[in-house]
Amino acid sequence: MSEIRKEILAANQSYAANFGDKADLPMPPGRHFAILTCMDARSDPAQYAGLAEGDAHVIRNAGGRASDDAIRSLVISYKLLGTREWFVIHHTDCGMETFTNEVMDKLLSSSLKSAILDGSGWHDNGPGPGSSEGKYINWLTIKDQTQSVLEDVKRIRHHPLVPGDLPIYGYVYDVKTGKLIEVPEATAAGKVV
Ligand SMILES: [Zn+2]
Repeated sequence: MSEIRKEILAANQSYAANFGDKADLPMPPGRHFAILTCMDARSDPAQYAGLAEGDAHVIRNAGGRASDDAIRSLVISYKLLGTREWFVIHHTDCGMETFTNEVMDKLLSSSLKSAILDGSGWHDNGPGPGSSEGKYINWLTIKDQTQSVLEDVKRIRHHPLVPGDLPIYGYVYDVKTGKLIEVPEATAAGKVV
């Protein structure tokens, strides 16, 4: 078994040993909100936003982007599980700023192995073959965090399955300070209509 698997299972054993009354938590989030955010390993919404099990929905993907699938989760979160406020939180130094659709497509076309990033951008050093299937995916990369938060709040706000009475707030998490910084134009775009 890999070292990581052993570590995970050991950690889970002690977690489950102290599970306590978490067994009685109801399914709907107790604090009635959802966060859409990036999968970045340095940012943990449970830590930076003070969440405990049972509090909130956290939807994570690369960039914290309002993809169709993220919106699917948000709509379920509201419609069936009672969240009433949503946060879109992108972050500084996001990996999604380091490439474009074209770069990703080119990398995947030459090799499926991990690429490396240096001062002049992403390069493949793994062997081929690659695949050209990457060109069919919009990787939802980011040029500017303020813009991407605004864009995603707007996309959610204007989605036909999202009700107007639910506020959506826009923030950027600073990986250097741990602070949440509001994107006021995004929160304004996400206000109740
Ligand atoms: Zn990120």
